[in-house]
Amino acid sequence: MKVFKFGGASIETVERALHVAQIIEQHQDEKLVVIVSAKGKTTNALEEIVRAYFNGDINLATTLFQALEKNHNDYAQELLGDEASAAIQKLKEFYTEIEWILAETPVRSFNYYYDQVVSMGELLSTTLIAAYLQKIGLSVKWLDVRDILKTDHNYRDANIHWEETEQHAHRHFDEAFLQHEIIITQGYIGCTDENHTVTLGREGSDYTAAVFANMLNAKSVTIWKDVPSLLNADPKQFPNTIAIPEITFHEVIEMAFYGAQVIHPKTIKPLFSKDIPLYVKCFLDPTLPGTIIHNTTKAIAYPPILVLKRKQILLQVTTKDYSFITENNLSNIYNLFASCKIKINLIQNAAISFVACIDSDLELLEELLTVLQKEYVVKRNEDLFLFTVRHYTEDILQEELKNRTVLLEQKTRQTIQMVVR
Ligand code: ASP
Ligand code: MG
Repeated sequence: MKVFKFGGASIETVERALHVAQIIEQHQDEKLVVIVSAKGKTTNALEEIVRAYFNGDINLATTLFQALEKNHNDYAQELLGDEASAAIQKLKEFYTEIEWILAETPVRSFNYYYDQVVSMGELLSTTLIAAYLQKIGLSVKWLDVRDILKTDHNYRDANIHWEETEQHAHRHFDEAFLQHEIIITQGYIGCTDENHTVTLGREGSDYTAAVFANMLNAKSVTIWKDVPSLLNADPKQFPNTIAIPEITFHEVIEMAFYGAQVIHPKTIKPLFSKDIPLYVKCFLDPTLPGTIIHNTTKAIAYPPILVLKRKQILLQVTTKDYSFITENNLSNIYNLFASCKIKINLIQNAAISFVACIDSDLELLEELLTVLQKEYVVKRNEDLFLFTVRHYTEDILQEELKNRTVLLEQKTRQTIQMVVR
């Protein structure tokens, strides 16, 4: 059995969905678990709807939701033609779930409503793709992943109840595979024991694919993307990128950790632990070789890998009484950051001051400043970039730093990290 994951861009238009169906059709030598994201920018649109709802702007929420319904119905019509009505009927059942929510005044947390509403994107997209695959005669079973993937109720970043999910996965997938060749289900979403829908964090569909691959001992996972392969940098940020045909799990997890938006960072661990290779392939041209990500002891020569993280803030925290930044102050400062749920991307400390580079999340930052300023003097520098280069060379640094000012730098043999302007 193999696992395929298709992201939102791969089914953004009906034309692309037909491409996806062709890819699935051509890979029927094996049983397939197909994980699909919400189509196009649906997740972002749903986020807007839930924000409007929670802010009390029901008119806006309703208008936006009607546009989303129309968009999905039109897509269904174009994709399925004469056979659209059954699928649209099923879509309507999902729409009703949201309409019920929008009709009530919110009494629970924003994150709770976020997950109830935003999870809809994947339910709609998988319904459409499954209907099309059935229409062209493939042996397909659609599963509601909420019957399988069980989590705690940490809304928007739910933690999987592993053993329970594994049991459900075996039961549901094994049973479906008795009669079908292809199982299609939703990425990114799950369900609590109390039957509330949750999400696993933005871009979490990659993670879902890895989780099921692990539990079902898949031969491989393939993530179908709109790029020809994994690249050494984001082509939207750097004009000259280089393809990476082969890369280790370790290297990818480092890239993701530094902020490269290649693959959801949680994806690697479940694959690494069962030694399941991960392929990145291009859905626009499946004949391209793509990238293999796996465990290998072979030495791979990598090009410099560039990761540019935007919207960074540099905080300088200085003791008020000239006490040193050693264990006591360090652990105190760390705890204050952690208590405000702020992740530190880079640190450097001197005698009486501590410098941290963090993402700019203004709400969290306000809270952090309030607690820090009780004990320390805090200065900040905004609108910065955190620029990381793995496997750096002097040439690449010279080239990339031409028009930038470096505020802080940290270097090991493999990696250089700089906070730049
Ligand atoms: N649809 C979700 C998102 O856009 C999950 C995913 O695409 O993986 O974040
Ligand atoms: Mg997506």
